[in-house]
Amino acid sequence: MACEVVELPGGRRAIVCGPRQPRRKCQCGNPATLECDWKVPARRSGTCDKPLCPTCTHVPAPGKDLCPAHAAMWKARRG
Ligand SMILES: [Zn+2]
Ligand SMILES: [Zn+2]
Repeated sequence: MACEVVELPGGRRAIVCGPRQPRRKCQCGNPATLECDWKVPARRSGTCDKPLCPTCTHVPAPGKDLCPAHAAMWKARRG
């Protein structure tokens, strides 16, 4: 969280706190509250991190979320 002092008309000031980055959105347009947990070693975070909403996620195990593309790969691996 980052706080900023914002000048208001009339010389007053207000402190506004919040995340600087805009909220991430799922590919369907809903606010993304989840991220794909598929392991992607090439990424710095080590996971896919694709933003997902509860409607679009695939849950292969409790606490895990997969984007549609990686859910398909996961299913293919399982046979
Ligand atoms: Zn979605
Ligand atoms: Zn993914």
